[in-house]
Amino acid sequence: MALAHNLGFPRIGGDRELKKAQEAFWKGELDEAGLRAVGRELRARHWQVQKDAGIELLPVGDFAWYDQVLTHSLTFGVIPERFRGQGEAGPTLQTLFAMARGTLGAKGGDSCCGGAHAQPLLAQELTKWFDTNYHYLVPEFTADQTFALSWEQLFEEVEEAQALGHKAKPVVIGPLTYLWLGKAKGAEFDKLELLERLLPLYGQIFQRLAAQGVEWVQIDEPILALDLPQDWKNAFERGYNLLQKEPLKKLVATYFGGLEDNLGLAAGLPVDGLHIDLVRAPEQYPTILDRLPAYKVLSLGLVNGRNVWRCDLEKALEVLRHAHDRLGDRLWVAPSCSLLHSPVDLAREDQLDAELKSWLAFAVQKCEEVAVLARALSEPEAPDVLAALAASRAVQASRAASPRIHNPAVQARVAALKPQDSQRPSPFATRIASQRNGLYLPLFPTTTIGSFPQTPAIRLARQAFRQGRLSEAEYTEAMHSEIRHAVEVQEKLGLDVLVHGEAERNDMVEYFAEQLDGYAFTRFGWVQSYGSRCVKPAVIVGDLSRPKAMTVEWITYAQGLTAKWMKGMLTGPVTMLMWSFPREDLPREVQARQLALAIRDEVLDLEAAGIRIVQIDEAAFREGLPLRQAEWQGYLDWAAEAFRLTASGVRDETQIHTHMCYSEFNDVIESIAAMDADVITIETSRSDMELLDAFEAFAYPNEIGPGVYDIHSPRVPGKEEMVKLLRKAAQRVPVERLWVNPDCGLKTRAWPETEAALVNMVAAAQQLRAEF
Ligand code: GLN
Ligand code: ZN
Repeated sequence: MALAHNLGFPRIGGDRELKKAQEAFWKGELDEAGLRAVGRELRARHWQVQKDAGIELLPVGDFAWYDQVLTHSLTFGVIPERFRGQGEAGPTLQTLFAMARGTLGAKGGDSCCGGAHAQPLLAQELTKWFDTNYHYLVPEFTADQTFALSWEQLFEEVEEAQALGHKAKPVVIGPLTYLWLGKAKGAEFDKLELLERLLPLYGQIFQRLAAQGVEWVQIDEPILALDLPQDWKNAFERGYNLLQKEPLKKLVATYFGGLEDNLGLAAGLPVDGLHIDLVRAPEQYPTILDRLPAYKVLSLGLVNGRNVWRCDLEKALEVLRHAHDRLGDRLWVAPSCSLLHSPVDLAREDQLDAELKSWLAFAVQKCEEVAVLARALSEPEAPDVLAALAASRAVQASRAASPRIHNPAVQARVAALKPQDSQRPSPFATRIASQRNGLYLPLFPTTTIGSFPQTPAIRLARQAFRQGRLSEAEYTEAMHSEIRHAVEVQEKLGLDVLVHGEAERNDMVEYFAEQLDGYAFTRFGWVQSYGSRCVKPAVIVGDLSRPKAMTVEWITYAQGLTAKWMKGMLTGPVTMLMWSFPREDLPREVQARQLALAIRDEVLDLEAAGIRIVQIDEAAFREGLPLRQAEWQGYLDWAAEAFRLTASGVRDETQIHTHMCYSEFNDVIESIAAMDADVITIETSRSDMELLDAFEAFAYPNEIGPGVYDIHSPRVPGKEEMVKLLRKAAQRVPVERLWVNPDCGLKTRAWPETEAALVNMVAAAQQLRAEF
């Protein structure tokens, strides 16, 4: 027998019910009782689906109103001073949402204590959860941090599950991972010093859970899959030794990577079980068996919790049978990680063809896979087990042979690639000379990052087109009219390099994915990104290629409206890959190369149509960075190469731009330089140009457009402010290599503030020209 359990289920609901309820609550359209009822209903439904699927031990505590790390901060009383109301009352749901979203202050918006604050409160920082596209709220610790049990949610939900007759396994983030994820505020100190203060809280929680009749608790410690400093490794031993005496059986869960040098440490912790991710790190399987103490449960994560493909059950079963011979009843089976990162239910997909649908599994189906794997050990001859294995075999066979996946022309093209294909013919110095000759731009040339406001009118037009209420000709004309408007405004403002505004694009990845062969789309494949925000990544199904030009008509239309340069606008291969569900039967770097070739063709078509400047966005370049330092270089090499492959087919005089909107370049600057874009535009305004230090220190040779204003807020920056930033930039980068632009695209802004900000930006550039 192996026990089937789950590490966590997506909380948003198959129809994004949680998102809708939260947003209604924030707008004041739903009261707290209504919101709580939606949460309760979702939890009940999700436990039931998992149980029906055959999961024996159900996760509780995976539900969160906004984010599970935030729930823990409330539980431990890690509530920054600014969110604490006067008086003794504990935190409320209002406190929680204020910590997540900030408050607007006295004038409307939500406020954490009945509008008593006159000052707006800054939300906690949002950061990527390991290498996923989920974002958590960063706990804020102070040197004098205290911890006190301040939030009852976990205990209430355990009671709720038990009342429904379920066997609950509460899930908590482990003490070391929780501290690791937080940020020290104020006077500097070592977060590890807080461990001894935090541990008693875990003791209290475990005692309460034990009193509720809980048998097992799952303690998530994903940082065991990271490179850990020695003092953190020591702290694991110290901390778990202190927790050893607490009641309850403890399962430490690791995921997102292999334990590697932490394997001995993890295996030896004085707990009752260990979960490992065998999807990401299958190679750790045999070693772990030898290191695991004889009393411990081993939970094998065999079903990928982070992708949408059906599990190869027979392959997984092979490992499981082997483990079962060694471990007997001490063997558990689970998804690799929480199913938070996969969409909810494939059964909802009514527009996928039968073949493709047979290849996919969402959270509900993944639970079924876990359960059938467990049953395959205890009842190998049961008809449903045999049927599931036969179906899995059929899926693997049909995928392996499907012409939909395998495109010989694409494969041959990738196989024939030579090093010079990802190398511009001339070095930057030669290229920039011929570009300057042809483009004739002033010093401090001004441009924008691509998108202009996506107004309600644009979204309505797209919706009407999709629903057939607008003909293609009418839709094209609506978009043309948006382009005309964008061009008129830019000419009036006196910008130097124009963009068409991206009105026709729903999303910078989906827009291109829809036009490539090899991609598929779901209707309900939503995954939580943060809070109420969900994304619906496109699915890379097979070899990728571009049947025809994707952007040339729009860009040449825009170029035809102006005598200034119109910048072509594309999404790069790495970003396309990072924001899609990738294939599992082909390495990521090969998928990146296929994307690179498809986009390279588009770059060449734009050049042939007379476009002289092409921007290839790589907003997600950093997102692919592996969790382990030792793997960084390998990733960075193929990622930079994929970009160059996209960009290297053009003549010297064609200028390639790239754009990245984040503010950490120090550790990857060499690879940014290796991309060899003629111009890179980056987000810098909020870092006060300090970000340019990395470029200066590296003597980054190509041109740079450091963003001079933050596009995340409607605030209109003054000219002086931008002049100051540009002067700072000019101290770090030779002026003949500087561009002037906002931090990122303007699609989330409205027109009035956009125009006002750009007027000032152009004026700032003019002033700098006069100064240099
Ligand atoms: N060209 C895109 C835009 O302006 C870039 C978006 C991004 O970097 N996230 O919207
Ligand atoms: Zn950006």
